[in-house]
Amino acid sequence: MKYIFVTGGVVSSLGKGLTAASLGTLLEARRLRVVLQKFDPYLNVDPGTMNPFQHGEVYVLNDGAETDLDLGHYERFTNCVLTRHNNLTSGQVYETVILKERRGDYLGKTVQVIPHVTDVIKNRIRELSDESKYDVVITEIGGTTGDIEGLPFLEAIRQFILEVGPQNVVNMHVTLVPYIKAAHELKTKPTQQSVAKLREIGLQPQVLICRTEKPLDRDVRRKLSMFCSVSEKAVVEELDVEHTIYEVPLTLHAEGLDKLVCDLLHLETPEPDLADWRKFVERVVSPKKRVKIAVVGKYMDVRDAYKSIYESLTHAAGSEDCGIDLKLIDAESLEHDIDAQLKDVAGVLVPGGFGVRGIEGKINAARYAREHKIPYLGLCLGMQVATIEFARNVCGIKDANSTEFQKNTPEAVISLLEEQRGVRNKGASMRLGTWPTQIVKGTLAEKIYGDTEVTERHRHRYEFNMKYRDRMNEKGFVISGTSPDGALAELIELRDHPYFVGCQYHPEFQSKPNKPHPLFKGFIQACLARQAGRATHARGDQESPRRVPDRELVPQR
Ligand code: GLN
Repeated sequence: MKYIFVTGGVVSSLGKGLTAASLGTLLEARRLRVVLQKFDPYLNVDPGTMNPFQHGEVYVLNDGAETDLDLGHYERFTNCVLTRHNNLTSGQVYETVILKERRGDYLGKTVQVIPHVTDVIKNRIRELSDESKYDVVITEIGGTTGDIEGLPFLEAIRQFILEVGPQNVVNMHVTLVPYIKAAHELKTKPTQQSVAKLREIGLQPQVLICRTEKPLDRDVRRKLSMFCSVSEKAVVEELDVEHTIYEVPLTLHAEGLDKLVCDLLHLETPEPDLADWRKFVERVVSPKKRVKIAVVGKYMDVRDAYKSIYESLTHAAGSEDCGIDLKLIDAESLEHDIDAQLKDVAGVLVPGGFGVRGIEGKINAARYAREHKIPYLGLCLGMQVATIEFARNVCGIKDANSTEFQKNTPEAVISLLEEQRGVRNKGASMRLGTWPTQIVKGTLAEKIYGDTEVTERHRHRYEFNMKYRDRMNEKGFVISGTSPDGALAELIELRDHPYFVGCQYHPEFQSKPNKPHPLFKGFIQACLARQAGRATHARGDQESPRRVPDRELVPQR
């Protein structure tokens, strides 16, 4: 078993997660079986209760774990299917240790960071060390070297390396090499100091990934090599990419990273096959056409808040050889000026969300898309607002609302899930993770998926109130997918509309480059059709996008 540890230096937001994921792409392309995990030093047990302003999107796994958005990169860039074991926070570590202490498992001992906390961390790496499944475990440590919270994780890694032997480990440090305009120079000092901090705790990096705006010249490389004790060829430049994050594996490959890491780990592998990846990147970088899509949400200034959605749009657009011009609209601003903001878009997407702020603006967006026959994709909350809109404006149920926004609404078309009634704690208590959906035959949804049984990831407390089903159906509101027992509405569409789809789940967590999610692909096709002035689209008889099962993408050994 081989191990790669990825730490970050100097500042946060260097794209450590992307770098780790990109290395995963490259190693898989060399036919290695890779798994990634993330250690987050904060004290929250999981990011599920954190605000998107603070933390960006919460990424949901099949098993319902609410995790850091880097796990989204890992799943998009590799064939890994992750579980709650792949994201460990300090909150979980201390929870485990304290529960053990209360149970009396440490009886007689003083409970300490070393060895008790570090043991829990090391066990997490060991849990993934299943040689029948993986060749390489990549572990990313969140935060920046020098953070107090990160110390136990670094100490655990130091011990771990001692246990498994340095020949089986690569420490990769992602660092910033800033360009100082006044001096016309790239500066190595911050990196030197960051590496010195790592060494203080007993960790020596073998690879430096240098995030930089300007290419590293020979002198800078030499200096970094000498001061940081890293061989010169292991000083790897990672320039800001020009167009898309999907270029990162290609640029790292051009710098020789995958070969270097395999050599350091004594792994014999074939040259990587990156042909499909390159093709996808080419389509994203120079598409034949463009389409303008409005995303109507609450956190429009925080690009990370709807990360998986933006990525899913890119995947779907890439498959149609099309570029996307995103129009990010703050939902609150759509309480007025709707026409001015939406009249030039080819599609409207309303993402998931919580709380009442911006709801009326989102309802207006759904109405505009319905009335103007603009393709609409509503994800989770986006489906709920579309339901409220239709009930109010088409079915004449004037007071229609969700009990989330108006507790005692007389017309709760969206109401709390039965199973949620007794829930008091906010953490990890929603309807979470993968659940099956039965698609109704003859619907647009069936055409889009090309299937009648799908599984999708969920994260919600509220649901469509089936009491209103018939009344709304009469007017053209179709429940096109339900839970297998028929009790929960999972998917809706409008009969008299080219593409108006809402889902109670989050398809954005299952889209990949070269494997776009059918709902996104159908949406982009419909937007292109609208733009081209064609009335038809996915409802016509064009081929349904096929979902490629994961196993077809797993490298053959
Ligand atoms: N707030 C809504 C609910 O809890 C929608 C959640 C979401 O969009 N993820 O059901």
